[in-house]
Amino acid sequence: MSSLPTELIRSLQNTKGFNEEAFKAVHQSGIQITSIRFNPNKLAYSLKASPTGGGLEGAVPWSSNGYYLKERPSFTLDPLFHAGAYYVQEASSMFLEEVLKQTVDLTEPLKVLDLCAAPGGKSTLIQSIISADSLLVSNEVIKTRVNILAENITKWGAANVIVTNNDPKDFQRLQNYFDVIVVDAPCSGSGLFRKDPNAINEWSENNVALCAQRQQRILSDIMPSLKDGGVLVYSTCSYSKAEDEAIADWLAEELKLHAGQAVGKSIQLKLEASWGIVETVSEGSGSFGYRFYPDKVKGEGFFIAAFRKPLSSVAISEVKSQKSKVKSKQAFTAKEIEAVKPFLVNADNYFYIKQHEEIIAMPLHLQNDLAIIQSSLYIKKAGVRLGTIIRNELIPAHDLAVSCIIHPSIPKLDVDAETALQYLRKMDITAETDMKGWVLLTAQQLPIGWIKIMPNRTNNYYPKDWRILNK
Ligand code: SAM
Repeated sequence: MSSLPTELIRSLQNTKGFNEEAFKAVHQSGIQITSIRFNPNKLAYSLKASPTGGGLEGAVPWSSNGYYLKERPSFTLDPLFHAGAYYVQEASSMFLEEVLKQTVDLTEPLKVLDLCAAPGGKSTLIQSIISADSLLVSNEVIKTRVNILAENITKWGAANVIVTNNDPKDFQRLQNYFDVIVVDAPCSGSGLFRKDPNAINEWSENNVALCAQRQQRILSDIMPSLKDGGVLVYSTCSYSKAEDEAIADWLAEELKLHAGQAVGKSIQLKLEASWGIVETVSEGSGSFGYRFYPDKVKGEGFFIAAFRKPLSSVAISEVKSQKSKVKSKQAFTAKEIEAVKPFLVNADNYFYIKQHEEIIAMPLHLQNDLAIIQSSLYIKKAGVRLGTIIRNELIPAHDLAVSCIIHPSIPKLDVDAETALQYLRKMDITAETDMKGWVLLTAQQLPIGWIKIMPNRTNNYYPKDWRILNK
C-alpha cells in the first residue's frame, strides 16, 4: 500500500485521539472490515440469515441492526442482497443512528432530509429508525448517482420516502421545513484509505481546501430549510480538521455573518468508553465533534457532529401552513384504484397518483408534503410504484414486489439460491408449480420480483437494468 500522505500526518499531530504509530500500523495491516445493516422491515422474512459465504461476527455496538461479517462474501451472488434484506454499510457510519436517537424524538412524525444521499447508506438507516408517519426526502445532486440511490431506496421497500435530484440551493424554496437535515458531505476521503488504498494517490492539501469551501457552500445553502429548533447532522469521512472541527466552528460562528443563519454550538453526545470514539472540542466555538480512528474503533475513519438551530422570533413561514394539492400528471378512474387495492396491505391508508401510465401509492398523511415538494423540487421517485392498469387489471411493478406494503396473500413461489440467481440474471426459469398468472418469486421467503406463469412458459419480469451481469 502507498504510504499515507506526510502532509496529512503532519496536520493531525495535535488532534485529539491521533496516535501516529497506531494509525500507520492499522493502515499497513491490510485488515478489512465488512459490516451490514439489516432492514428491520424485512427481518420477519430474512430472520438475520447470514449472507452467502459470510457468517455474522457480533453486533456493531452503536447500531440496532448492524453486524460485522467474518469475511466479505460476494454480495452480488446473494439473493437476499437484491431483495433489500440488508445494506452493506461501513460500521462507523452507522453511528448516525445513535446521533439521531440522542438528539431527536424519533417517535414523532418528522420531516427528514438526507441532502447528499447517494448511494443510500444513510438514507436506508434513517428510514429504518423514523416513525411510519415521518417523511424522508433523500436527495442527490449528481444525476448519474441518483439512479443507484433510487434503486437502493426501492429495495428498502418503504413508502414514506421521496427521492429528489436537486442542488442544495434549490432547497431554499422550502424555508423552515425540515425537522432534521443530514449532510454527509462530499469530502477528501482520507477516512477510507484503509479500505481503498488507491484513494491515497488522489489526496492533496489543495483538495482538502476545495472540499472545505464546498462544504461551507452546501451548509449555507441548506440552512434556511431547517426549522427553528431543528437538528443538523454533519458528517465526513475525512480526518482533516479543515473539513471537520473547522466546519463546526464556521457553522457556529461565521454562517450568521454570511447568511444570517447560525446553528450555535454543537450538541454533546453520550458515549460508551468501550466504543473507542473520540470526542473533540473545536478551537473556536468549543463545538463537540466525534472522531472515529480505525486504530480505536472497528470501522473506518469518520467524523460526525450535531447542531440544534436556535429558535428565533421569525414568524412561521409560508411553506409550513401552505395547503397544496398533489399534481397527478394523468387522470385515472376509481375502477383503476379498485384494481390495485387487493395488492396492498391497508390500501385505504394510501393516496394514489398516476405518472407515465403508472399508479403510485404514498401514505395518506404525506399528501400535503408531496404537493409542496413537487412544487419546489425535481422528484425522481416518490412512494411505491404499483404498476400500470390495462383493461382494469394491474400489471404489477417491480417496486411493489420488493415493497413492504404488498399484501401477504399474493401468490408466492419460493426458489433455491441457484434459481433465484438465474432469475436475477434475467434468464428463463421453469416454475415447478400449478399456479398461474402473476406470482411473486421469493428466496428464503423474501420477495425478489415478479414472474408470470403462462400455459407453456414462465416470463421473467426482473428489471433489465438491475440484472446481475457477472457469472
Ligand atoms: N450519504 C451517502 C451514503 O451514506 O451512502 C454517501 C454520500 S457521499 C459521502 C457524498 C455525496 O455528495 C455524493 O453522493 C456526491 O455525489 C454528493 N455531492 C457532490 N457534490 C455535491 C454538492 N456540491 N452538493 C451536494 N452534494 C454533493
